[in-house]
Amino acid sequence: MGKKLLSQFSTLLIISLFIGFVFYSFGLNFFIGIGVGVVAQFALYHAFLVLVNLYAALENKKIENERIKEFSFQSMEVTCPCFKQKKEIIPIRLNANNQYKCSECEKTISVFITPETAILTEPIVNTDLTVVNKLIQEKLANGSA
Ligand SMILES: [Zn+2]
Repeated sequence: MGKKLLSQFSTLLIISLFIGFVFYSFGLNFFIGIGVGVVAQFALYHAFLVLVNLYAALENKKIENERIKEFSFQSMEVTCPCFKQKKEIIPIRLNANNQYKCSECEKTISVFITPETAILTEPIVNTDLTVVNKLIQEKLANGSA
């Protein structure tokens, strides 16, 4: 840690000295050059830190959004069996017992998932109204008879 600080300090000093010499070679004050060098380096370092933090915040936000998206695919709205019938959206996992704590009655609630099956039916393609009208007329004729 001390070694790192020393190397950082010497880097700061070398760059500041260089800027001092540049100032001096342009006929300006050498020590003002060093001062400008030190300030500029601190400003740059600060700007760098700000950018790094901004980048980290953006990345975190991205991860958070991904998690929310993922969560929305694996969650369900359930109703607590307590008398308050509190509705809550809870995460659902198929490889574990699903439990949650009701925010109203503060009891632990188990969630049971029962799969239901149904045969998918084909939609009616024929929308010819004359066929439908004929069927209705037939029904009416049979009904009146
Ligand atoms: Zn409840």
